[in-house]
Amino acid sequence: DVTATKGCQFEDYFLKRELLMGIFEKGFEAPSPIQEEAIPIALAGRDILARAKNGTGKTAAFCIPVLERIDPSKNEIQALLLVPTRELALQTAQVCKELGKYLGIDVVVTTGGTSLKDDIMRFHSSVHVVVATPGRILDLAQKNVAKLGTCKVLVMDEADKLLSEDFQKIVEELISQLPEERQIMLFSATFPVTVKQFKEKFLKKQYVINLMDELTLKGVTQYYAFVEEKQKVHCLNTLFSKLSINQSIIFCNSVNRVELLAKKITELGYSCFYIHAKMLQSHRNRVFHDFRNGHCRNLVSSDLFTRGIDIQSVNVVINFDFPKNSETYLHRVGRSGRFGHLGLAVNLITYDDRLNLYKIEQELGTEIKAIPPQIEERLY
Ligand code: ADP
Ligand code: MG
Repeated sequence: DVTATKGCQFEDYFLKRELLMGIFEKGFEAPSPIQEEAIPIALAGRDILARAKNGTGKTAAFCIPVLERIDPSKNEIQALLLVPTRELALQTAQVCKELGKYLGIDVVVTTGGTSLKDDIMRFHSSVHVVVATPGRILDLAQKNVAKLGTCKVLVMDEADKLLSEDFQKIVEELISQLPEERQIMLFSATFPVTVKQFKEKFLKKQYVINLMDELTLKGVTQYYAFVEEKQKVHCLNTLFSKLSINQSIIFCNSVNRVELLAKKITELGYSCFYIHAKMLQSHRNRVFHDFRNGHCRNLVSSDLFTRGIDIQSVNVVINFDFPKNSETYLHRVGRSGRFGHLGLAVNLITYDDRLNLYKIEQELGTEIKAIPPQIEERLY
């Protein structure tokens, strides 16, 4: 149970009263295991490498100590929270603002796809915490609009993604702008070897937290259905009619297929949005916002949406196209079954996907079963 703890309370960390108020107002009663492990160490200023399952509360595990250590009377950037996608930046900033509601701390989000001029304006007024995707914040730092020389804390959420080829150079460039005395914290559910090299180069006597021993996708029942490519839409239609979907995310492997499938689902008479990386940012924001607020039951997505997105009402994930590797599988399927909720994942498997299915099942040490004629509702 992700909510089972050693019996620690948020009161035990001697946090500012205003911060505790924000935590309780958010409805958190007691820290989750990752929060219990990470908060005291982070408050002590140590570097952290933390690995914990999807949906177990990593965001608050770094936001709480970061907020506690900000001095609102100093008008300077004191923490940078880096994330790989724009939507995740918005979501993380929202959590930070809610938790810090009574602290008088200024949290600013800055991501690509929005007006650079507006961002420059916003950095003229007070900024204590920046939540950003790597490219835009580097741009602002290089223009000396965002002054990172005072930024003593760097958090990298979905750290392994931030250290992949797409971002690694930018991240290293950003780190070179931080002061000598700085704290770096890495969070993710997956830590491949790239993280090891980074660790050796940039972290100091880091504290390692690994809460991955328990079954990785616990709480998510996973099924596969063998289908031919041309039967996939029909199969999806059957799933829609049989499943009790609260909200679902349906993954495709390309932008084109996302749009095509969304069109077909609408033709079948089901409500559906779609989102992918080639859409205008303003459009992406609207879809993300409206889906989160329950305006639509189904969302067709590319892998843009696989990491970090937390929408508790999503109880079903469908891999319309099966992912190529186990990390992508884990992050996609981890969109359901958040924070102790149950979830269901259905994988449509073509002949070509078969080997990959077995490989991913093995690598994750998880069980993906053949779909039964009836799926019990109590499972999700
Ligand atoms: P992760 O980053 O580990 O995938 P998130 O930080 O997105 O997980 O948190 C998952 C969900 O759990 C969020 O909806 C969050 O509000 C909720 N949550 C986090 N910590 C607690 C807590 N201590 N008590 C209750 N709910 C929590
Ligand atoms: Mg997260």
